[in-house]
Amino acid sequence: MKHIQGRREASKAELRDDTFTGTVWGDPLMPPEDDVTMNHVYFGPGGRTHWHSHERGQVLHVTSGQGWVARQGDPAVKVRAGDTVWTPPGEVHWHGAAEDALLVHVAITLGSTEWMDEVSEDEFHGSTSGSAGDGSSDEEAAK
Ligand code: MN
Repeated sequence: MKHIQGRREASKAELRDDTFTGTVWGDPLMPPEDDVTMNHVYFGPGGRTHWHSHERGQVLHVTSGQGWVARQGDPAVKVRAGDTVWTPPGEVHWHGAAEDALLVHVAITLGSTEWMDEVSEDEFHGSTSGSAGDGSSDEEAAK
């Protein structure tokens, strides 16, 4: 067991600009352990990840604001504070803030992350303008 005290052992917050669009801060909540990382991620309005997948999956838990999680080929799913999303190993997806809101989520990432192309404006607007934005809790769509 390892007890990680808040703000004492984590490395410092940093801007995420290589694999993200817009203004996005990552704030580590613990040093990597056994290929598990845990970060608080702060997305400015419209900020988002590039397309990517996780070797052994990822848990996202939204702690503030509102945004989107999108699996490749599906409309984006709206997420709000209190929501949790599990992305299984290898599934290509992105996550980010709504255009008019901040999104803050905890990300617990298992294994390595494979980064791909950025989510273009057309992809962002195309996938977030569909019927999935009504807040319905379709578990299949959220994967
Ligand atoms: Mn992810």
